[in-house]
Amino acid sequence: MKGSLYIGQYAKVKVFIHWTFFILISYILFLGVSMGQQAVAIGWHILFILAVFLCILFHEFGHVLAGQRLGYKTKDIIILPIGGLSRFEKLPDSPKEELIISISGPMINLLIAVLLLLVIPNNLSDFPSLEISEVNSRNFLFLLFEVNLLLGIFNLIPAFPMDGGRVFRAFLTLFISRVKATKIASAVGTVFAIVFILLGVFFNPFLIFIGLFIIFSASNESSIVNISALLEGHTAGELVMHKFDLLDENTTLAEASKEILDGQSTSFAVISAQKTVIGTISREVLLSSLKSLDLDTPLSKIMNPSTKSIPSNIPLKDLFIDKILDKNNLVPVTENGEIIGMINLENILEFIAFKKATSEWKKIIN
Ligand SMILES: [Zn+2]
Repeated sequence: MKGSLYIGQYAKVKVFIHWTFFILISYILFLGVSMGQQAVAIGWHILFILAVFLCILFHEFGHVLAGQRLGYKTKDIIILPIGGLSRFEKLPDSPKEELIISISGPMINLLIAVLLLLVIPNNLSDFPSLEISEVNSRNFLFLLFEVNLLLGIFNLIPAFPMDGGRVFRAFLTLFISRVKATKIASAVGTVFAIVFILLGVFFNPFLIFIGLFIIFSASNESSIVNISALLEGHTAGELVMHKFDLLDENTTLAEASKEILDGQSTSFAVISAQKTVIGTISREVLLSSLKSLDLDTPLSKIMNPSTKSIPSNIPLKDLFIDKILDKNNLVPVTENGEIIGMINLENILEFIAFKKATSEWKKIIN
């Protein structure tokens, strides 16, 4: 992720800190200095933030290690001021797996809270409530206990896509389809998000960020779920385009540009003298080549070679979610090593539109 500092890895998962986390540290420094605090007091606050950071990291590793046990790899972990983010390579398919992975994070915080409770002296009434100006050697562990209790409980609020919302969706998926479950979980999440934003205006501005985060990521994730459901069970072979325009590999940059201006095609298959497809070329690649290359450069030098083809049995869902295709750039689809046609993202988007438009879509596709 851009603007993140790599700090190390554990269990083959790289951990990054987002730059905004350092704003938080600077803010505490600034607050401490402006309130005339001693260096020791400011030091305790920073130590406290680092301890909270560590607890958030443990929370994320709760998700990651639970995921690894179920066979899901994690790309990386990013720590943001509002919490952590574990990016899995693939989202869990079964509700039971999603439930286990989602609940493992908050459970770690509740576990830390219980462990801290064991080492904190039991005259709890002496301790102040959670306020940033009060951290010191005496209340440090108690405040950390409170933070972990809060992190555990807060994350279990059923506001999708927070952990609790995922647990809620997984639970709903036991009874209804994933698409419907996501819709309901997102709607409930949005209600919580609005409540967070309103509370944030009056009490703690952090809640505004969390509310906005919930709204944006919920709508993003529900559209992915909707599209995945529409593409479920379809393969690249079904959508392959058999009609596409051809250009010879010796066609020059200038001639190819003319072809684009002269017709409706925005991408072409490039063929060799033996009339076999050896690559593809799109308007975008042509335009960027025009900036740096000679007008008489042949397409064979700038095309995407067809070695980057995809097999016809690859699920459309994977092509879409893993962002393998560009909008215009054609990618050859092969069957038993032979090219049977072309596919691009535009093609998949058209398919989604047609499938949404008519229940008789089966009569339209191959
Ligand atoms: Zn979590």
